[in-house]
Amino acid sequence: MAFVITHACEGEKAGECIETCPVDCIVEGEKQMYIDPDVCIDCGACEAVCPVEAIYPEDEVPEDQQQYIQINRDFFKNR
Ligand code: SF4
Repeated sequence: MAFVITHACEGEKAGECIETCPVDCIVEGEKQMYIDPDVCIDCGACEAVCPVEAIYPEDEVPEDQQQYIQINRDFFKNR
């Protein structure tokens, strides 16, 4: 499992999460930040510091934002 960055980050990109992540698996993209699900160690530090509450554990992503699980994954596939 991994943490997932969702819709609230779009256009916001506050950036606290990037500074907080102990394994450097959060990357800034054009639209939003993304978490590499293969590197994330599930510590929850990013979720705690996000000012717009855009970050969820994968199994708690809201129903209407489920697509972001794949969106985060795809960002790292295409790099
Ligand atoms: Fe990084 Fe921890 Fe957030 Fe995963 S849960 S992205 S390891 S800060």
